Amino acid sequence: MPNSNPVVGRLAPSPTGAQHLGNARTYLLAWLAARSRGGRVVMRIEDIDSPRVKPWATQQAIDDLRWLGLDWDEGPDIGGRQAPYIQTDRAEMYQDRLRELIDAGRAYPCACSRKDIEAAASAPHHGHEGPIYPGTCAAWQPGDALPPDNTFCWRFRAGDVELEFDDLVLGTQSLNPARQLGDFPLTRKTGEAAYQLAVVLDDGLMGINQVVRGDDLVPSTFRQIELFDAFSFDRPTFAHVPLVCGTDGRRLAKRHGDTRLSMFREQGVRPQQIVGWAAASSGLIDRQEEVWPRVLIDEFSFEKITRQPTIVDEGAFGS
Ligand code: GLU
Repeated sequence: MPNSNPVVGRLAPSPTGAQHLGNARTYLLAWLAARSRGGRVVMRIEDIDSPRVKPWATQQAIDDLRWLGLDWDEGPDIGGRQAPYIQTDRAEMYQDRLRELIDAGRAYPCACSRKDIEAAASAPHHGHEGPIYPGTCAAWQPGDALPPDNTFCWRFRAGDVELEFDDLVLGTQSLNPARQLGDFPLTRKTGEAAYQLAVVLDDGLMGINQVVRGDDLVPSTFRQIELFDAFSFDRPTFAHVPLVCGTDGRRLAKRHGDTRLSMFREQGVRPQQIVGWAAASSGLIDRQEEVWPRVLIDEFSFEKITRQPTIVDEGAFGS
């Protein structure tokens, strides 16, 4: 069991925009889950979604997380054993390791012109896994001819097996990846690694053994478990925490108004207010009060975390 090893958790912001209240809460929980077990925290920047990445957003994410009182033992700003910690700097490694899946017959070139190939660069939040791939290109075998460069993605052959994992918040989760999710892109048509491939190689090589993230990524977890197995990495334990939503019940986003951490910071909201809200709304403390993350380390337990999404609106902290 990975649990008998020291815990290694991670914070994995995507610099596709500003970090908001929902991100803050998930990072707080991921950080507490590691620190409460005396574990280490790795920070990495998931910036492979090139058209959507904002050049200012990487530094801002780092500043936001530090402002909240979170820290890490390895990361883009402090280095570490598995540097670099910025995904675009790891592109060559992704290509090298992809070869293993191709040679093992686990991946095939797919020339279909589906939108999900392009969408694959980012984590499929809000149920954006794409339709189940019908298998049009799946007959390819290693040694067969390849379509011309830049006209195909590499697609992973999902297993037609019942796959199960014990989520530390949600309990046992199971499904059949081939039948319920389908084969999925490992790269884009440009050849660049897609989200699922990059995340698993990073988590595997960085020794991450505890993944805490939003519960809209549960389907991705099944795909990632298949990749962990295919690369012979130990599977991490997973904890999927409820999302913070806007008043329409959808995952917090720009349309819900301004809940950017940088905005709160500029307005003079104290980080302890945000942390107190995040801890109370997720079930860690009974009463909302101002608190620093480190004060919550002893309070943390997965059992306390609510399974209900939290609704938040723009005026959450006044001004
Ligand atoms: N970088 C992803 C995001 O912010 C997180 C993906 C993950 O935790 O695996 O959406």
